[in-house]
Amino acid sequence: MDYTTVVIGGGPAGMMAAGTAAERGHRVAILERNRVFGRKLLITGKGRCNITNATDIENHIANLFPQGKFLYSALNAFPPSALMNWLEQRGVGLKVERGQRVFPVDDDAHRIRNALVEFMKKNGVDLKPLNRVLECKKKGDKFSIFTEGGQFKSENLILATGGSSYPQTGSSGDGYTWAKNFGHKVKTPEPGLVPLIVKEITLAPAAGLVLRNVGLKLRDKRGKILFSELGEIDITENGFSGALVLSASIFVKSGQEFFLDLDLKPGLEPEQLDRRLQRDLENKSKENLRGILGGLLPRDLISPLIKFTGLDWEKPASHITREERQVIGEVLKSLSFSVVGKRDWSEAIITMGGVKCGEIIPATMESKLVPGLFFAGELINIHGFTGGYNLQLAFSTGFLAGENC
Ligand SMILES: Cc1cc2nc3c(=O)[nH]c(=O)nc-3n(C[C@H](O)[C@H](O)[C@H](O)COP(=O)(O)OP(=O)(O)OC[C@H]3O[C@@H](n4cnc5c(N)ncnc54)[C@H](O)[C@@H]3O)c2cc1C
Repeated sequence: MDYTTVVIGGGPAGMMAAGTAAERGHRVAILERNRVFGRKLLITGKGRCNITNATDIENHIANLFPQGKFLYSALNAFPPSALMNWLEQRGVGLKVERGQRVFPVDDDAHRIRNALVEFMKKNGVDLKPLNRVLECKKKGDKFSIFTEGGQFKSENLILATGGSSYPQTGSSGDGYTWAKNFGHKVKTPEPGLVPLIVKEITLAPAAGLVLRNVGLKLRDKRGKILFSELGEIDITENGFSGALVLSASIFVKSGQEFFLDLDLKPGLEPEQLDRRLQRDLENKSKENLRGILGGLLPRDLISPLIKFTGLDWEKPASHITREERQVIGEVLKSLSFSVVGKRDWSEAIITMGGVKCGEIIPATMESKLVPGLFFAGELINIHGFTGGYNLQLAFSTGFLAGENC
């Protein structure tokens, strides 16, 4: 069948691109390997879908890597405010939560997915689920797309197959091979926004524990601080997860050394903490070390931490020396771990790497190498922190590709 535009990938980027191109009068088909569209979209934000971040374009660019500026045109063409209006005009009420994160008012990602599917249907897009694309080529000025269900031809081709993270949702990195076959350079994909594995499994006995209001720093082997924030972390059996750690993981590149420094008492300067410990030791002189730390830390963390210090946890407070008190203070303020890896693709929220931006025209999302070939979404080498930046980039690049194909 011949189309003006074929879109491969029925995620947020592809659906936005397909509906936008069809609205402009293109005859469009969207090919999706799954039975349903937007399978990953449905699990975003734990099923609530953090659709965007209600901040300005500059803030979005600052939260996108490795070069947020590449998306300047896309974000201007379809900014967060336009996305929010677009959804509200289609009956999807929105709310803004902590950190300017935007969610559907009823906390249901289906509302977003359904609005996109309706948008495509209303504009006459041919929806082709259960059509895994096996190969695509360009001959003359036409693209040929070969799927499990048959062959399609088109004047324009939009690749929106996503990255390699959560392959169980359908995004298994197929688009990278085709991009390379079209002559594009692809930065090797790596898991991003992913739990980290550390060498020292000191805290493993406390796996499952969530630590709120801790300080986390990621540094490289030269001591350069790459990430530093206060927030929440989860202890896992071989490292750490949670919002802070996921964000820090964006700076962890395979084959290089990185360290995590944990501050369990970020609200207290070292001297203040020392005075507090001194006071507790005096006031509770009959208690042992475990009892003293009970006033400062969650219960499950105490045993692994005391073990880490090498101190005797049964030692009465009155016998703890100044040096021992200092060791405790240092452990509470600065626990260091060597990062030895990331958890795998099945736990990565996003993909770092992908089709290199330098070979894509930022004002249109068209390939600089192959006329009529467009890219949208996570397939491109650009990714963001948590907070709605990744979905916004999928929508903005999808919109731009759909407007310009
Ligand atoms: C657990 C989780 C939670 C997340 N939460 C958020 C959040 O709250 N906010 C946020 O901003 N981001 C979130 N993200 C990231 C966000 O989901 C992605 O950035 C976004 O889905 C990327 O959109 P996309 O359209 O580029 O790719 P995808 O959503 O991956 O869609 C690509 C589509 O292409 C299809 N496809 C792939 N290969 C083929 C093929 N050969 N033939 C046919 N079809 C194919 C796939 O089946 C898939 O449907 C989350 C991700 C995960 C995994």
